[in-house]
Amino acid sequence: PPAIIAVVKANAYGHGAGRVALALEHAGATMLACADIEEGIVLRRAGVRVPILVFGALSVSHLDGLFEFSLTPTISTPSAARAVQAAAASRKVRVHYHLKIDTGMNRLGFRHDNLRRMLPEVLGSPNLVLDAIYTHFATADDPEQALFGEQRVRFEEAVRTARELGVAETVSRHAANSAALLRDSRVWYDFVRPGLLLFGIVPPPLASTLALQPVMSLTSRVVASKGLRPGEAVGYGARFRADAPATIAVVPAGYADGLDLRLAERGQVLIRGCRVPIVGAVSMDMITVDVTAVDAVQPGDEVVLIGRQGTEDWQQIDVREMAAAIGTI
Ligand SMILES: *Cc1c(COP(=O)(O)O)cnc(C)c1O
Repeated sequence: PPAIIAVVKANAYGHGAGRVALALEHAGATMLACADIEEGIVLRRAGVRVPILVFGALSVSHLDGLFEFSLTPTISTPSAARAVQAAAASRKVRVHYHLKIDTGMNRLGFRHDNLRRMLPEVLGSPNLVLDAIYTHFATADDPEQALFGEQRVRFEEAVRTARELGVAETVSRHAANSAALLRDSRVWYDFVRPGLLLFGIVPPPLASTLALQPVMSLTSRVVASKGLRPGEAVGYGARFRADAPATIAVVPAGYADGLDLRLAERGQVLIRGCRVPIVGAVSMDMITVDVTAVDAVQPGDEVVLIGRQGTEDWQQIDVREMAAAIGTI
């Protein structure tokens, strides 16, 4: 089986980079990956010892962090190769790097169809040591698109070209994000690069037979409840108007806490084991929920925004459901 590059960019998908990274290292991740040098420094400061791959382009970064915190850069442009080569030479050290090939995403990476012209300079850089070649899929989560298969073929051709240009057989290959690794074992190669799956999230719209548990939960508590008379409205913009007597509970969590504004009139939360709708606007620090159908809601009652409250299927709200309700990921 392939080894794992555990992706913990963007503060480990919001879960807390330091603690998550140490847990993944302890669980056996061969390498971690993050978006930029600053994120890599956070991981090292938390105590991470395994190699850390930086995905992003380096052209506007201060490169000192690469050396001070022994991070592994991705080289995805000729100018990045020159900059890292120069910085390494001036420090009289050698830098291990991963080479990124663009096989059809048309974002970062050396074009797959231009390698004979572009690679010799990079491969000839005396202070750069190539550890791995990789690419990234644009459509791994969409079985309708032919691009996924085209990218796989182009990547394998690119690796063959690189070998002809002198890249050793020991240099490894990787390509698969979560969706790609679920989809096709032919793209597992030497490493896979899951992010979402590590946090218990199957990338939408895919379904999976894996028994994954989302690791994040987000809870609050009811701070007040009140009755509405027929015709009365609640919150900014009076977006929700009661057509019969209703009971509203106030929950002290709002967009400043990360609850998307679009959850107004669309999202649900769990209180006393019941699903109840978010009504009215999402405020900066509060939401209001309609608890008319729930018995005896009181200040202090637990409110589950993401997570589980009870054992029934419907007593769980995961981040996929929340995202789907508002048309985001
Ligand atoms: C974010 C990212 C991944 C992980 O993607 P998931 O869909 O979360 O598994 C893998 N590779 C690269 C280059 C990435 O930027």
